[in-house]
Amino acid sequence: MIRFEHVTKSYPDGTTAVDDLSFEVAEGELVTLVGPSGCGKTTTMKMVNRLIEPTEGRIFLGDDDISSLDPVALRRRIGYVIQQVGLFPHKTVLENTATVPHLLGWPRRKARERAAELLDLVGLDPAVHGERYPDQLSGGQRQRVGVARALAADPPVLLMDEPFGAVDPVVREHLQSEFLRLQEQVRKTILFVTHDIEEAVRLGDRIAVYGSGRIEQFDTPATVLGAP
Ligand code: ADP
Ligand code: ADP
Repeated sequence: MIRFEHVTKSYPDGTTAVDDLSFEVAEGELVTLVGPSGCGKTTTMKMVNRLIEPTEGRIFLGDDDISSLDPVALRRRIGYVIQQVGLFPHKTVLENTATVPHLLGWPRRKARERAAELLDLVGLDPAVHGERYPDQLSGGQRQRVGVARALAADPPVLLMDEPFGAVDPVVREHLQSEFLRLQEQVRKTILFVTHDIEEAVRLGDRIAVYGSGRIEQFDTPATVLGAP
């Protein structure tokens, strides 16, 4: 579903953030990208939705080279969740969740129905939390809204960049187990960035262990844990 072929990204200042990366993620697979800060995880992720263009190499989404896909086509196919989900403060949670369907031109009523369904899916009550504004939610709840919003257009692919990184450990664990349950229902192809090896092992079908700009190991949790 996602395929990197010899992808290198060098920034204008000469930093090579990722160096000759090749890997494949199967449909419905959740791959965690783990490693210390600055090893190229976020750069890898942002190249998939073209927030960053590779210097060399090609990236495929299914059969399509992503450099041939326009931003709207990418939005339809890829949901994106970051550490501090940016919600519109002056819009309700329901309106925030309906953002992408709106952008895609869905009728208002259909977009709102879809948003309510999604809030329910991530464990929020549309009638209660949906009518609140983002600053009336806890940090954990805001991250759930971020996940709901990313799922709104039903994209086959989700990119998640430390989505649970900014919440406290107890909430994080709760979000992780709910997220695993959600993934059983929706089966998205997911790239999930974390610097927390425990999170990587718990969530990943496979784990890409990053060293500086390279994937040093790409394997199942059991194998990664068993490695010397
Ligand atoms: P990670 O997500 O693993 O923390 P990043 O992909 O953010 O790593 O960064 C990889 C490397 O690229 C780091 O050395 C970082 O400093 C560098 N880098 C990231 N963004 C830029 C940029 N816009 N310009 C120059 N260097 C950058
Ligand atoms: P969490 O452990 O999920 O981060 P919090 O302790 O922050 O939760 O919040 C607990 C409850 O209080 C949640 O149900 C949340 O909706 C509610 N809450 C938090 N902040 C506000 C607020 N500003 N207005 C209304 N309800 C709030």
